[in-house]
Amino acid sequence: MSKILLKILLLIGGMVAAVLIIGQINFQSATDGADELIDLQEEKLGEALLKVFNAEHRTVKDSGKLEPVLRITEKICEGNEMDCDELKVHLLNRGMVNAFALPGGNVVLFTELVAVCENAEELAGVIAHEIAHVKLDHIRRKLMREVGISIAVGIAGGSAGGEAARQVASILASSSYGRQLENEADEQAVIYLSNAGIDPNGLAELLNRMAGHDEELPAGAYWFSTHPNPNERVRAIREKAWSLEETEFEPLYSKEEWGQYLEKL
Ligand SMILES: [Zn+2]
Repeated sequence: MSKILLKILLLIGGMVAAVLIIGQINFQSATDGADELIDLQEEKLGEALLKVFNAEHRTVKDSGKLEPVLRITEKICEGNEMDCDELKVHLLNRGMVNAFALPGGNVVLFTELVAVCENAEELAGVIAHEIAHVKLDHIRRKLMREVGISIAVGIAGGSAGGEAARQVASILASSSYGRQLENEADEQAVIYLSNAGIDPNGLAELLNRMAGHDEELPAGAYWFSTHPNPNERVRAIREKAWSLEETEFEPLYSKEEWGQYLEKL
């Protein structure tokens, strides 16, 4: 091979390497920027959607009513090395049995859902399940699939109007994520709860009780109608719970304490 040809080849090789490196850097910074932008938009979107549920007006601020919700959330965060500041769990005074996650790390619980929980472990199961939807990025996937980026950005920026926000809020509050993502959220919830020292069978017990009393479900029991296949889920939750190391748990509250809490809710 002649020297000139070798130099040309080295030159071309160097240029290709430079393009690849620059491409890598640009791609990386563009991705980071997009993530930050999406995070910011998600926070704004979450705030806009919370307004739909009249959060300010209906948000429970009574520390006694909030105590188990906050205690469970903190325990889950501590046991799983999660930054609790990134999670915002809201208790809203609403007569519907519902709980759901919104963008921006928001988890919404309605008081009527708390009221059907016979112990704190059942409530912890619902909270852990919704935290799993947040942490596993299910909300973003659902938004992309069912809403689309332009409407989501429009609501976050305030240009899409109130009706769009109401529709998206309704989608996130009253429709399922689909069997696969729901199963993923259940499985992750069991891990979160076990790591936090909370009996994960509470979630199975709540679903089992509701599945057995379909006709007696309280009016507006959205959380159970948007989370179908309860028998299959109960089996999977119990199996997962048994597969983990920790199978003995201290109750979060005594029966009497929980009864007193529900009375003042
Ligand atoms: Zn779910």
